[in-house]
Amino acid sequence: MDRPLIISGPCSAESEVQMISTAKLLAATGRVHLLRAGIWKPRTRPGQYEGAGSEGLKWLISAKKETGLPVATEVANAAHVEACLEAGVDVLWVGARTTVNPFSVQEVADALKGVNIPVLVKNPVNPDLELWIGALERLNRAGITKLAAIHRGFSSFEKGPFRNAPMWDMAIELKTRFPELDIICDPSHIAGERALIPFIAQKALDLDMAGLMIESHIEPSVALSDAKQQVT
Ligand code: PEP
Ligand code: MN
Repeated sequence: MDRPLIISGPCSAESEVQMISTAKLLAATGRVHLLRAGIWKPRTRPGQYEGAGSEGLKWLISAKKETGLPVATEVANAAHVEACLEAGVDVLWVGARTTVNPFSVQEVADALKGVNIPVLVKNPVNPDLELWIGALERLNRAGITKLAAIHRGFSSFEKGPFRNAPMWDMAIELKTRFPELDIICDPSHIAGERALIPFIAQKALDLDMAGLMIESHIEPSVALSDAKQQVT
């Protein structure tokens, strides 16, 4: 694997034009390996943009065809997995709000039986290493061997300088227990604010993490989700 692995793209796929123009700019950097975009968005509170749904899958595939970049999206249930496999999504990720729930993770794992697609598992929203490991194990037992973890920080009542406290020890402990497992840092969801992303990204690379997932948008200030933390 070319290191660091760079995953980038918008928090949410918003339109076909947005996806294709974003993908073209990312591909032109020559540094991005995988295009990300969420289409089913797990919003903490209702009344916010909840994603384009299956319609958005077509936009991801168009962006892939235009640029050759493989594409990744978040799945939280069996229907999401089936739609992604049918559309030809290359990589799936399990979000922080799904990793916390063994029922949901098991549902995703069961839907993936017999398909060895790469799956990235974000840490749970709470700092529980066993839940993170448990999600990876459920997928592994379903036959998924191309697994990596994504460190996106942990939420808490206490507000610190970051949206989600990095608690680097959690990622270090995961790597200590599973040295073969690649860990990718998501500085966007840790920082919550674009100005802080370089600091978090550098720290992750100093810790020898395998890659970075960075949210990017053609016009970050008007993004329908996570506007403050996306970069051009
Ligand atoms: C995302 O990647 O846009 C996302 C919803 O992430 P997380 O699961 O880390 O909150
Ligand atoms: Mn996001």
